Amino acid sequence: MEFGELREAIEKMELVDGHAHNIVSVDTTFPFINSFSEATGDALSFTPHSLSFKRNLREISELYGSESSLDAVEEYRRLSGLQAISLKCFKAAGISAVLIDDGLKLDEMHDIEWHRSLVPFAGRILRIERLAEQILDGLHIKVVLDINPNVTTKMLKKVFLKFYVVYLDFGLAVPKLSVHGMISLVKEFLEVAPINKVMISTDGYAVLETYYLGAKKACGVIFSVLCDACIDGDLHVAEATEAAKGIFGRNAIEFYKINAGLKFSDLKASSTPCFDVENAVDTGASFVRSIWVDAPGQYRYRVRFLFLSINKL
Ligand SMILES: [Zn+2]
Repeated sequence: MEFGELREAIEKMELVDGHAHNIVSVDTTFPFINSFSEATGDALSFTPHSLSFKRNLREISELYGSESSLDAVEEYRRLSGLQAISLKCFKAAGISAVLIDDGLKLDEMHDIEWHRSLVPFAGRILRIERLAEQILDGLHIKVVLDINPNVTTKMLKKVFLKFYVVYLDFGLAVPKLSVHGMISLVKEFLEVAPINKVMISTDGYAVLETYYLGAKKACGVIFSVLCDACIDGDLHVAEATEAAKGIFGRNAIEFYKINAGLKFSDLKASSTPCFDVENAVDTGASFVRSIWVDAPGQYRYRVRFLFLSINKL
């Protein structure tokens, strides 16, 4: 079986990044090491000892042609400036559209407009936790928010059996787990969800490198998972290529109603941003987001599961 074509097709695919956060300015107090881990306080000292830290640091150094150490990468960033690094990371990431959740408050973060100089399309998405806190009478919608820390594959399966418009996004787990962790997670998701409901996002935040790593690892992981699906006899190579197109962009375009009818490469900066409360009501869309939480400096299989549905009252 020939996988060269599949690899090439995936590497050329533009990513519609359906979930990310704002980039911060150089004056920020955001510590660069937090781009590798969400650990805080004493737990942060364990970060350099995780598999994903070692791999992600090496991959950033390779992109910059610097030594593979935190100091060397930080020095390179200081000397190059934010603009140069931004262009380098976004070009290498191949992101054609990004939807930004600006409800995550970061020190000295740029507004959404700033991101439009980096990527053809930048839109805003609602942070559901924030939305849930608000009184929504004026909008005539009801939000059901259920955070369940003990989700299982079986429960995920039930969600997909019960609801028609449910999408699953595995951003953050990619690239924050080990290679083995990322591959088994994506395989598990394809086990419980239809291919046309699964999507990747970078969940990039604060620094450009998080976007780059999310997009780069998505390519490698999805290629590996789809190759195995072909070897196992689940998919033909042509079907795997179609599946990748959906996971990289088409499914997010469908879910967020980004300029329906246009190809990713046709997305324009002037396009109307996509996802708002009214749209969610109209589509009846539900969104499942599964996030691996960082326990002391390491990512473990502890799952935070967020199930959201927005219904008309
Ligand atoms: Zn996020």
